[in-house]
Amino acid sequence: MPNRILSKFVVAIPKNEKIVLFNTKNAKTISIPESIYTNGEYLENRLTYNLLQKEEFLEDKFEIYNIKNNNLVGEKTLRIIILIHENCNFRCVYCYEKFKKGLIKEDVFKAICLFIQKELRTHKFKKLAVGWFGGEPLLGIRKIEQMSTQLIKLADEYKVEYISHITTNGYLLNRRNHTILQNVSVSDYQITIDGMLDYHDKQRKLINGQGTFKVIWNNLINLSKASSNFTVTIRANVSGENINNMNRLIDSFKKDFGNDKRFRLYFVNVNYWSKNNISTILKRDIRAELFEKAIAKNVSVMNMKAFINPCAICYAAYENSYVFGSDGLVYKCTVALYDKRNIIGKILNDGTVLISQSKHNLWLKDISIKENKKCFNCQILPICRGNQCPYKNIQKNTNVCPPTKKSLEKYIKIFLKQEKCDYEITF
Ligand code: SF4
Ligand code: SF4
Repeated sequence: MPNRILSKFVVAIPKNEKIVLFNTKNAKTISIPESIYTNGEYLENRLTYNLLQKEEFLEDKFEIYNIKNNNLVGEKTLRIIILIHENCNFRCVYCYEKFKKGLIKEDVFKAICLFIQKELRTHKFKKLAVGWFGGEPLLGIRKIEQMSTQLIKLADEYKVEYISHITTNGYLLNRRNHTILQNVSVSDYQITIDGMLDYHDKQRKLINGQGTFKVIWNNLINLSKASSNFTVTIRANVSGENINNMNRLIDSFKKDFGNDKRFRLYFVNVNYWSKNNISTILKRDIRAELFEKAIAKNVSVMNMKAFINPCAICYAAYENSYVFGSDGLVYKCTVALYDKRNIIGKILNDGTVLISQSKHNLWLKDISIKENKKCFNCQILPICRGNQCPYKNIQKNTNVCPPTKKSLEKYIKIFLKQEKCDYEITF
């Protein structure tokens, strides 16, 4: 047999007297009894060897080449995020938006539809993924309805899959708006809740300063009574101030949504999102710690695959990914809205997108073009591709390692609690 060395992109994780091999090139898992792993017997066995080879667990002199070529240029998804309403009914203490603009302009609305039609006409895409963002997108619910109807028609006409999600503060997610969204295939919601009422209401207030927790939580409870198919990710932004509030959030989530698999929790470290930030930024990656706590209480959390899949990178790193402002400006990232490097162009009324290719290239740092020793020797290269958050890379002018690098084993261990291994080897 030729090569019998495991690829450097394979991570070995001990689990209940077994070793689970996790392949960062394809997120596949193989479980092997510890003794057989230790004495290397599994590599001598013809069947096991064939499996390891088929699933790319063995070192291969072409593997870097293959990872490089599994690049994003051939991506078959057209990703569009629309800032449908750039004002907001909230004034969160850490928010970076300036609220100078409002509802999407009619000519911009039409131009985006024309642009998408031109792109789909090329038959390069198999999927159209549309995200509704703001400000607060539900302030423009009728426009979402109108525009979605047109986009669904286009997806049908060009026979591409259509998926749609919304990032909302949840305050206006009442039954009426939920029904409108369901009718136009918006079936994935991300809603931020920063802890229980006492903390959340200090962070996420209405323009008039009133708290928002009760209305949002009530909307979510009503949503859970609907029979429709959707997913809700409740995102908690965690800082030094609210970390101790998370236990109560997990408990309340369990009480009200614990049996509903459509709901799940997601934790994010508060970061330097705006100059207004007054929270204590936690240096350690709190995600794994809180996911583990939630899972121990049998609470459903985001699937770890989102962090450890190959190409688990930001949408901004994809070539066919655009964020359209309500006034027709074209961006890559929804965080850096006031950074000139992020304003890569403008859409014209006829649907032409005028883009500065040099600015666009800043976001698409492709490992097949820019060789980088640090990344090529990194076990999570297939996951991160040296460009997990292009905006951080642009700011620091280097490839910034994501938290996944340090927490990889923890994430894999949680993943192994969420999903069974792909293969179990028993001799
Ligand atoms: S580029 Fe970075 S900051 Fe911008 S949306 Fe992506 S992950 Fe967030
Ligand atoms: S940026 Fe860091 S984590 Fe990402 S591939 Fe390069 S070395 Fe690895």
